[in-house]
Amino acid sequence: MPPTPSSSALPKVKLSLRGASRLKDGHVWVYRSDIVSAEGVDPGSLVTVTDQRGKPLGTALYSSASQIAIRLISRETTSREPVTDFPALLRQRIAAALAYRASIVRDTDAYRVVFSEADFLPGLIVDRYNDILSLQILTQAMDDKLVREAVISELIHRTNPRSIVERVDPRVRELEKLPRRPSDLLYGDETSTIFTMNGVQFHYDALEGQKTGAFLDQRENYAAAAQYARGEALDVFCYQGGFALHFAACCPHVAGVDSSRPALEVADQNAALNHREIEWIEANAFDLLKDYASANRRYDTIALDPPAFAKTKRDLDAALRGYKELNLRALKMLRPGGILVTCSCSYHVSQPSFLEMLADAALDAHRALRLIEVRGQAKDHPILLNVPETAYLKCVIATVS
Ligand code: SAH
Repeated sequence: MPPTPSSSALPKVKLSLRGASRLKDGHVWVYRSDIVSAEGVDPGSLVTVTDQRGKPLGTALYSSASQIAIRLISRETTSREPVTDFPALLRQRIAAALAYRASIVRDTDAYRVVFSEADFLPGLIVDRYNDILSLQILTQAMDDKLVREAVISELIHRTNPRSIVERVDPRVRELEKLPRRPSDLLYGDETSTIFTMNGVQFHYDALEGQKTGAFLDQRENYAAAAQYARGEALDVFCYQGGFALHFAACCPHVAGVDSSRPALEVADQNAALNHREIEWIEANAFDLLKDYASANRRYDTIALDPPAFAKTKRDLDAALRGYKELNLRALKMLRPGGILVTCSCSYHVSQPSFLEMLADAALDAHRALRLIEVRGQAKDHPILLNVPETAYLKCVIATVS
C-alpha cells in the first residue's frame, strides 16, 4: 500500500444507511452487507468511507474477503490531517500503545503491547514475553508488505527485542483470502525465553502453545485470586499452570487439570522453575469433576477457566449449560468458606448472563455465593467502550457458604 498523495485520491467505499449509522454510533466495523459500492477497490486498501450521499465519514481499512469489510482508523474528514500515509499513522499508534502500557502495566515482563481495535490498530496483535515479541496479523491491510515493514521496524526501534516471531492462525488467513504462510521468526534468532509475572516464572516457546503462547489476559486475575486462595486448591483447565502456580505460593496442596498433555508438560516444567510441587492431572474436566463430586472430594479453592464455549451467538444456550454444569459441580465440591474463581472468555456470554448462570448454579447446588470481585481482562487488553467486542473476559471471585 504505497502512501497516497492526498485524501481525495483514496478509493471510496459507500455505505448503506445502516452501515453509516453504525459508524456514527461509535463502532468501527461495517459488515459487507452494509456496503453499497466498493468498485475497483483493491484488497487491503486504505479507503475513504462515505454515506449514501457521498459525504465522507472517515478513513478505513478495506477487506475484500472478511465479513467485516470496513475497519475505521480515523474519523477525520476535514482534511486538516488526512490519513494518507498509513505506515506513518501506524508508527504513531504503536508508540501510543507502548506509552499506554508503560503507564498501566506493573509486575510483569509479559503483556499485550497492541490489542487490535482497542489500540486503534485493527488487525494487529503484539504480545511481549520478556525479550521476545509475538505478532499476529489478522487482516489484508495489516498483511501488506510496507505495513509489515513499518510494524516490525517501529517495534525494533521502540522496544529493542531479542526476537520477533509471527504466530499465524491459518483459519484467519483463509477467511481473509491471504496466501498461506508458516509461523516463523521475523527478526532475531531466539524463539524461547522465560518470562515473569507477579513474581511467578514461566517458560515460553514462541513457536509452540495456544494463542500467542500464554493467557496474558488473566495476569491481574491470577494475582487477585491468589489473595484469597487457601487450603487445597484445584485449577481446572489449567493449561501451563497459570492459576495453579499462583495458588502454590499460598496453598499447601495444589492440583491442575487439563486435557492437553503438551500443556501439562510445560506446566510441570514451570512448577520446577518456581520450586513448587503441583499435581498435574491429564483428564477431561467434565468427567473428572463428575467423578470427584460423586467420590465426595472436597476443596477449599477451585478455579474454572474453560475455553470459549460460545464461539458464535448461536452457541449461547449450549455454552451457558456447559458453564452451569461446571460451576454446579465445583460449588458442590467446595468446603464452606471456600473460594470459587470462575471465568469465561466467550464474548457472546455477557457479564450479566454469566452472573445469572452462576446464581442459577448456586441455587441448584443449595449453596450461597457471595461475590468478592467481579473482574475482566487485564488492563493491557483495553476495552474500547463503543466496540463491545473488545470486552470478552469475565472472572468472578466468590466465597461459598
Ligand atoms: N487457565 C489457563 C488457560 C486455560 S485455556 C491459564 O490461565 O493459562 C483452556 C484450557 O482448557 C486449554 O489448556 C485446553 O487444553 C483445556 N481444555 C479444553 N477442553 C478441555 C476439557 N474438556 N477438559 C480439560 N481441559 C480442556
